Amino acid sequence: MQLMEEMILTHGKVLPGNILKVGSFLNQQIDTRLLRKCGEEILRLFSGCGITKVLTIEASGIALATATGLELDVPVIFAKKHITSNVDGDVYSTTVHSFTHNTDYSVVVSRDYLLPTDKVLLVDDFLANGAALRGLVALCAQANAQVVGAAIAIEKCFQGGGDALRASGLRVESLAEIESMEAGNIIFRS
Ligand code: 5GP
Repeated sequence: MQLMEEMILTHGKVLPGNILKVGSFLNQQIDTRLLRKCGEEILRLFSGCGITKVLTIEASGIALATATGLELDVPVIFAKKHITSNVDGDVYSTTVHSFTHNTDYSVVVSRDYLLPTDKVLLVDDFLANGAALRGLVALCAQANAQVVGAAIAIEKCFQGGGDALRASGLRVESLAEIESMEAGNIIFRS
């Protein structure tokens, strides 16, 4: 998606440790025009797939997931990173390793929201090693819900998570695919 690539080139900052900072348009301040266009593009990619729910992980996936849910006209679920008073004990749960914080955390979704009849589109802001997406796939498996595919704003292809998931049979669509990045030189997959 050309607009996403332009925003990355213009506003993205490559930090040490293979982190791309996109706080000025996606992760803290949100460019609403870009977000709307992302939702439209994901609708184009997945229309006709019979999706009934969009599933993401709090917090940074929620904006893109909501833009996607609005376009697909389906509910959006976000997996919570900790069991809070808002989530009772009747949950699906799995452990995810955080690439950005280098820690493990559990993600939970109430059994009331993810159903065996659901056809689920997974959405996240970044795809790096693939741990977050694998966690969402695991939650869907626990619910016996069907995973239709995954839509990602920015995939860092050089970390391999996306291609490993594709090789396992998951349809993964990324709006920008970064082949390599260093400060001042970001190359997209062609
Ligand atoms: P993965 O689980 O695929 O290794 O990493 C994906 C998750 O880590 C995403 O949910 C995202 O929040 C975070 N993440 C991974 N790489 C980056 C990055 O370069 N920049 C930012 N802002 N977040 C990232």
